[in-house]
Amino acid sequence: MKFQPRASHFIDGEYVEDTNGAAIEVIYPATGEVIARLHSATPAIVEQALNSAKNAQAAWAALSGTERGRILRRASDIMRERNYDLSVLETHDTGKPIQETTVADATSGADALEYFGGLAASLTGEHIPLGGGDFVYTIREALGVCVGIGAWNYPTQIACWKGAPALACGNTMVFKPSETTPLSALKVAEILVEAGVPKGVYNVIQGYGDVGASLVSDPRVAKVSLTGSVPTGRKVYAAAADGMKHVTMELGGKSPMIVFDDADIENAVSGAILGNFYSSGQVCSNGTRVFVQKGIKEAFLKRLSERLAHAKIGDPMDEDVSFGPMVSENQMNIALGYIEKGKAEGARLVYGGERIERDGYFVQPTVFADVTDNMTIAREEIFGPVMSVLDFETEEEVMARANDTEFGLAAGVFTNDLTRAHRIVAGFEAGTCYINTYNLAPVEAPFGGSKMSGVGRENSKLAINHFSEMKTVYISMNDVEAPY
Ligand code: NAD
Repeated sequence: MKFQPRASHFIDGEYVEDTNGAAIEVIYPATGEVIARLHSATPAIVEQALNSAKNAQAAWAALSGTERGRILRRASDIMRERNYDLSVLETHDTGKPIQETTVADATSGADALEYFGGLAASLTGEHIPLGGGDFVYTIREALGVCVGIGAWNYPTQIACWKGAPALACGNTMVFKPSETTPLSALKVAEILVEAGVPKGVYNVIQGYGDVGASLVSDPRVAKVSLTGSVPTGRKVYAAAADGMKHVTMELGGKSPMIVFDDADIENAVSGAILGNFYSSGQVCSNGTRVFVQKGIKEAFLKRLSERLAHAKIGDPMDEDVSFGPMVSENQMNIALGYIEKGKAEGARLVYGGERIERDGYFVQPTVFADVTDNMTIAREEIFGPVMSVLDFETEEEVMARANDTEFGLAAGVFTNDLTRAHRIVAGFEAGTCYINTYNLAPVEAPFGGSKMSGVGRENSKLAINHFSEMKTVYISMNDVEAPY
C-alpha cells in the first residue's frame, strides 16, 4: 500500500507499533480503496507517549526562544519544500482536490510554524513598578504537556496550528489526529524531528474517541486543544474541567452570510461558493445560512447556479478538478440525509441534491432556496456541500435571525454600504467575521468561535496566551512591615 506509514504512532522521535490496538483502515474517499492500515493506541502506547512528552518538556522549555524558533522555522522550510508530496498524501487521506491541498494544507501548516517560530524569541513577561521602589516582574511559562485532538477536514493544518504555538512556548505535545485521517500528522512529526525538535517534544498517537478521552483525563496533561464537533467539545471540556486543565475548543458552526441588495452580486456569489463548497463543504466556518435580500434573490440564485455548473467534479488528483468527494461514506450519508430532510420539509431544491454516480463518496453541490429559520437544514451543522438560502427584507430582521443560533463561529456580510457593514459586524454574535469576503484564516489573525462554537483562539499572538501562563514575582526593596 502506497501510503502505508512505517508504523501507526510516532513517539520519542521514532515510529512505534502495537498491533494489539483496534484496526484503523484509511480509505481514499475518491475510490473507496484502503490505502493504509493502522492501529489505535493501546493503554501502553498512551503511557509511552505521555511519559515521553513529560520527560522532554523541561529541556525543551530551557532552550532560548530563539533556538526553539529557529527549529520551528526550519521545519516550516522543509514543509514548503515537500509541499507537493504532502499534498498528495493529504488528498488521499481526505479526498480534497490537489488543487486545494497544494495551497491550503501543508502551506498553512508551514505558515503556522514560521509565524510562531518567529514569535518564540519575543515571548516575555513584563516589569511592573510599584511604589517606593518595589516592583513585580512576570515570567511567561510553558504549561507543560499539551494534548491536541484533531478533526478530519484539515489534518496537516490542525496538527500545526496546535503544535506550532505549543512548541514555541516551550510545551511538549501529544497529538491525536482524527481516526478518519491519521496519516499526515505523522509526517508533521517526522519533519519536526528532522528540523531538530528533540525526541518526545511532539508525539503522534492514533485512535478513536476513547484514546482522546484517556489523554484528556490524564493528570500529566496541562492543556487540551480540540478541533471537533460541539458534542465532543462538551465531553472534552467537562473532562478537562475535572483536572482544572486549560482548554481551547474549536468546534462546529452554522454561520450566517448576509447579502444586501446593494452588494456586488458576483462577489457575493463567490463568497457563497467559497463558504459552502470549498472542501466539499467540510469547513467549520462555512456560511451555510445565506440570507439574501428579497429584491436580488432570483438574480443571486441564477448566477449561483450558472457558476456552480462550472465546478469540475471528479478525480481529486486531477489538477483541473475543483470539487471532490466527501471524506467518508458516513459523512456522505449524513449530508444525503440532510438533503432528504430539506426536500421533505419543503425547501425548494435549486441545484444538485443527489449522490453522484461514480466510485467514492461524491455528493453534488446542493442549493436550497425558500429555506425558513426552523427547518432542520437551517438549524443543524451539516458539514457537507449543502447551502440554505433564506430571504429577508430589513436589516433589523436579518440581524436577529442571523444570531438566532446556539453557534457563533463565523459570520459574513456583503454590502457596499460602509457604515451598515460595520454596524452588522458589531451586532454579529460570532468570533470570526467577514465583510465582502468569506472564509479566510491567515495565521496572523485570531481564529475561533463564541457561544457553543468554542473557547479560546488559535493563530495570531493571542494563541500564545492559550499555551502559556504568567508567574508573578513580587520584590520588596524595603523593610517588611508586619502589624505585630
Ligand atoms: P468529532 O467531534 O467527531 O471528532 C473530533 C476528534 O475528537 C476526533 O479526533 C475524535 O476521535 C475525537 N474524540 C471523539 N470523542 C472524544 C472524546 N470523548 N474525548 C476525546 N476525544 C474525542 O469531529 P469530526 O467529525 O472529526 O470533525 C467535524 C467537526 O469538527 C465539525 O463539527 C466541524 O465544525 C468541527 N471543526 C471545527 C473547526 C474549528 O476550527 N472550529 C475546524 C474543523 C472542524
